[in-house]
Amino acid sequence: TDTPSTLLMIFGATGDLAKRKLYPSLFHLFNKGKISKDFAVIGVARREWTEEQFKKHVEDSVLTSIGTKENIDEFISHFYYQSHDVSDSESYITLKNLADSLDNKYNLHGNRIFYLAMAPEFFGTITDHLKSDGLTDTQGFHRLVIEKPFGHDLPSAEQLNNQIRESFTEDQIYRIDHYLGKEMVQNIEVIRFANALFEPLWNSRYISNIQVTSSEELGVEERGRYYEKSGALRDMVQNHMLQMVALLAMEPPIKLTTEEIRGEKVKVLRALRPLKDDEVKDYFVRGQYGPNETGGRGYRQEPNVDPNSNTETYVAGKLMIDNFRWAGVPIYIRTGKRMETKSTKIVIQFKDIPMNLYYNRDKPLAPNLLVIHIQPDEGITLHLNAKKSGQNVETTPVKLNFSNNSVDGMNTPEAYEKLLHDCMRGDATNFTHWDDVKLSWAYVDKISEVWETTKETEFPNYCAGTAGPKAADELLEKDGFYWWPID
Ligand code: NAD
Repeated sequence: TDTPSTLLMIFGATGDLAKRKLYPSLFHLFNKGKISKDFAVIGVARREWTEEQFKKHVEDSVLTSIGTKENIDEFISHFYYQSHDVSDSESYITLKNLADSLDNKYNLHGNRIFYLAMAPEFFGTITDHLKSDGLTDTQGFHRLVIEKPFGHDLPSAEQLNNQIRESFTEDQIYRIDHYLGKEMVQNIEVIRFANALFEPLWNSRYISNIQVTSSEELGVEERGRYYEKSGALRDMVQNHMLQMVALLAMEPPIKLTTEEIRGEKVKVLRALRPLKDDEVKDYFVRGQYGPNETGGRGYRQEPNVDPNSNTETYVAGKLMIDNFRWAGVPIYIRTGKRMETKSTKIVIQFKDIPMNLYYNRDKPLAPNLLVIHIQPDEGITLHLNAKKSGQNVETTPVKLNFSNNSVDGMNTPEAYEKLLHDCMRGDATNFTHWDDVKLSWAYVDKISEVWETTKETEFPNYCAGTAGPKAADELLEKDGFYWWPID
């Protein structure tokens, strides 16, 4: 294995995230021999569970999500549980004693990862106590993993960050953006920097526009209360969408180290053209889904949602990156709930060639496209023009396809599996740095300020199960482009 011995403490161990993602991911890592045999997990949560109940819970979660329980007994023998009150020092002292004894039992060298899979309002309280009650007083490494959302806007994010930084240094903090754990998102870098074919063309001379889409079929489900305060802009754009844009647009790093890659990404966010109040409407479109004919309910009819809600469930935007490489190239992003299909993908549209020898009034040449499929399919497609077989010199579009799913014959590891493994190895490359968080909130805050002060009178403006509001199409049409269909 390439990971050192570790004690992993999961705060929020009875929650949804731990159950659906963390235990199955840990089990995979364990079965692949990717975690040191010297490991222990302490589940920490409010409920008064016994250790047996917790172990059963972990076993069930693995079974439900993976469908096998090979080696499960050995796996769960490493799990411990503590019922805990996050604001009570006594609880932390008990936790510290348990941690210290496991340190000895498993020879963990005081290496500790604190994974906060809980509501963000507890983050600061927990980190304060971890330090003041001595849980970070060991010889080994201490890492803090934090789930989204990291703040609600720049001031709240700053406040949270300041509080966490009282107990952990920036390089001990691993802010999860699970998009960065996805195989094809990590592949953006490889496609760009390991191919002679793309990097020379990766600029404003050859690329006409870039389109990043992340659409969901589901609505807000049970998360209405949270979503009412968040909306698509905060929930998706501030983190996932801007992180994908940074990877697409960054300069080649001088080395593939955490510092160099993060350094290049942050420069992209610094170069984002800030919007003025009256420009927001020209660059950003918001949408909210309404009911559809087949009985799908609208956002305003969802549980825990205000019947007059002004919250957006869809965002489309045009980003400009004002640097030498990208001057004049629009990067369009869109994300929404209750769309036609579930899909995350990136389309890079190349400029038309200088002269079309094959021009035919009925059939213009299709532009070259590079499509990066992130989910549910994973792969890349290159759209080219080739000769149509036959007597005439006619062109026909061809697609060169590479699909990850079919090459490996199995699903690639889940984002959480990769990210947990990275964190155990101490590799923070695929986690967000505070500088990213700060710059993306600053960018997004301007848009939410304008949106919060002007109620959208057209809401709902797209039917559940469709491609989003018409205004999103017009955003591209006025630049002479259109959204490439999500096929
Ligand atoms: P959840 O509500 O299912 O779980 C909350 C956990 O916190 C439970 O284990 C509960 O026991 C514990 N808890 C709550 N109050 C406590 C207290 N006072 N003292 C001790 N323990 C307490 O939440 P979740 O869906 O697992 O989400 C956890 C975090 O992960 C949140 O920050 C969320 O935004 C984030 N997140 C979740 C998902 C997901 O798929 N569920 C995805 C991305 C991010």
